[in-house]
Formats: sequence, C-alpha cells, structure tokens
Amino acid sequence: MNKEEIVADEHNDYDQEFFQAVDRNTRAEQAIFDALLSIQDDEYYTLFEIEAEHTCGWARVQVFPERSGTLYRCLNCGVAGIIGG
Ligand SMILES: [Zn+2]
Repeated sequence: MNKEEIVADEHNDYDQEFFQAVDRNTRAEQAIFDALLSIQDDEYYTLFEIEAEHTCGWARVQVFPERSGTLYRCLNCGVAGIIGG
C-alpha cells in the first residue's frame, strides 16, 4: 500500500497517527540505508557512525552493516533497530 492510498482512505486519527509513525520511521531507515550505499567492503561488520535524518531530526547514527541487514542506533534519541535483510 503506498502513501497516496493511505491518505485517500478514510482513516480516523488513530489510524493516521499509526501510518504517519510508520512512514516517518521508514523514511529515516531509508536515509540511513542511503548513507551506506557507498561503504567499502572492509566497512562491513565494523561499528561506525554516520549522519542521517532520523525520526528525531538530523543525528549521529551508529551503524553496523551486515550482509543481511544493518543494525543501527540513533545517538540522539536512542532508538535502535535493524534495517533490511
Ligand atoms: Zn533519533
């Protein structure tokens, strides 16, 4: 389901808040992912920091890229997770 479909549907505020939160998080994870597009082979399985736009704004983000996904932690708000697979 794309964003237009979500907006076009008659969701109530409860639903809207849910989808907006998911959308913000997806954009933040995409920004982190984009920042990692140019990493070198020897940077995999190494913990380092990048700057990316997280849900809390521009922040330093710790990343640990693995072949199957990227572990991350925002140093501003503390949220951590795994991107992709
Ligand atoms: Zn954050």
